[in-house]
Amino acid sequence: MRDNTPNSWESRADANSFYGFTDLPSVHERGEIVLTHGEGPYVFDVHGRKFLDSNSGLWNMVAGFDHKGMADAAKAQYDRFPGYHSFFGRMSDQTVMLSEKLVEVSPYDRAKVFYTNSGSEANDTMVKMLWFLGRSEGKPERRKILTRINGYHGVTAVSASMTGKPYNSVFGLPLPGFIHLTCPHYWRNGKDGETEAQFTARMAAELEATILEEGADTIAGFFAEPVMGAGGVIPPSAGYFQAIQPVLKKYGIPLIADEVICGFGRTGEMWGSVTYDFVPDAIISSKNLTAGYFPMGAVILGPDLADRLQATSEEIEEFPHGYTASGHPVGCAIALAAIELITKGGLMENVRALTPKFEAGLAYLAQNNNIGEARGKGLMGALEAVRDKDTKTPFDGSLSVSERIANTCTDHGLICRPLGQAIVLCPAFIMTEPQMDEMFEKLETSIKKVFAELA
Ligand SMILES: *Cc1c(COP(=O)(O)O)cnc(C)c1O
Repeated sequence: MRDNTPNSWESRADANSFYGFTDLPSVHERGEIVLTHGEGPYVFDVHGRKFLDSNSGLWNMVAGFDHKGMADAAKAQYDRFPGYHSFFGRMSDQTVMLSEKLVEVSPYDRAKVFYTNSGSEANDTMVKMLWFLGRSEGKPERRKILTRINGYHGVTAVSASMTGKPYNSVFGLPLPGFIHLTCPHYWRNGKDGETEAQFTARMAAELEATILEEGADTIAGFFAEPVMGAGGVIPPSAGYFQAIQPVLKKYGIPLIADEVICGFGRTGEMWGSVTYDFVPDAIISSKNLTAGYFPMGAVILGPDLADRLQATSEEIEEFPHGYTASGHPVGCAIALAAIELITKGGLMENVRALTPKFEAGLAYLAQNNNIGEARGKGLMGALEAVRDKDTKTPFDGSLSVSERIANTCTDHGLICRPLGQAIVLCPAFIMTEPQMDEMFEKLETSIKKVFAELA
């Protein structure tokens, strides 16, 4: 299947590129997919093959792959002022305007925004901010970071330490002081006979026990995605944030919402924290921030953290941190266009309008005997494959069930993502109903084919 002739795109890709998060044996067999362009939610490869990308790229290309307004915003800003930094009290007018906009769409009356190039860097930045605050406020031992198993927070040394995935052990991570609590996935982690409310209470009790065991004065912050994304689209158990936030408040530990996937409309509200009805102390954003048209991340500090960081920075004259491209004017102009499109251009409305159809499609496929759970929120969803539905027993790992399904989908012109034994869908916000039908039809065909092979 792979074109191994020396000048094929596959051979050229393999010869000179070292790529991450790629199943190399599978690529050696099947070949790379080298893409040239996109149209709406579709992408095209060098051989002219067309794929419906049910993952919006990596959760982020919510306006599709050829949005003229987005490209125009980028071009206009490249013509006007193609780059500048945000050091030494200088910043572009676009940066000023984007911060105003982010504060306006944030859950806060007042807030302050710090820019990065990615979600990983935004989490790293937030951790450094918390460490800096602890030291300046006379609590230098407040350094530990709490996250959850299956939480995904990025790949830099610190954000990978926050990420609760076993693959990071190949790097000798996590670093000391990064603690992973139980994943609040009731379907998988609930005990026999335990109600969802009891499960949620157990999660809160575990958090409090961990805080007491570690010492509240050693913990700098708790980070959580409202819905876990790369962990397999895992919504929290009912009442989870209402149960844990009072515990964190009791011990003065900030709750940071990693909204890199949920932010800007994915769950049907501007923020996942709005959907789950809690106000975090700060928000980490990236991905949809620019609808994927520019690499950019942002830390949005709520009033309390903003005031404290401002005060401690003034004491030593500065906050000694920043990236060369922080607050890049082109990125900011693109983000302004993306937020406009999401809030006023009908994208978030379309998320809400399509959600019932999306949920119905997932629920229909979950009738299959080898789908144990359909889960999700707004336009992010997952189907969990199981060998035995009643006992929730997974397939043997060596069968690579979700990879098989995803590869079969690719053969049928659908890109979707295998995560653990789940298949993840997170369509673009511009998706139409017929495109969603196409997505579910292709997925159904592929799922049935693979389960028949494995039966
Ligand atoms: C993707 C992601 C990140 C990391 O963002 P990068 O831009 O890839 O560094 C962090 N947190 C969450 C929730 C993400 O989904």
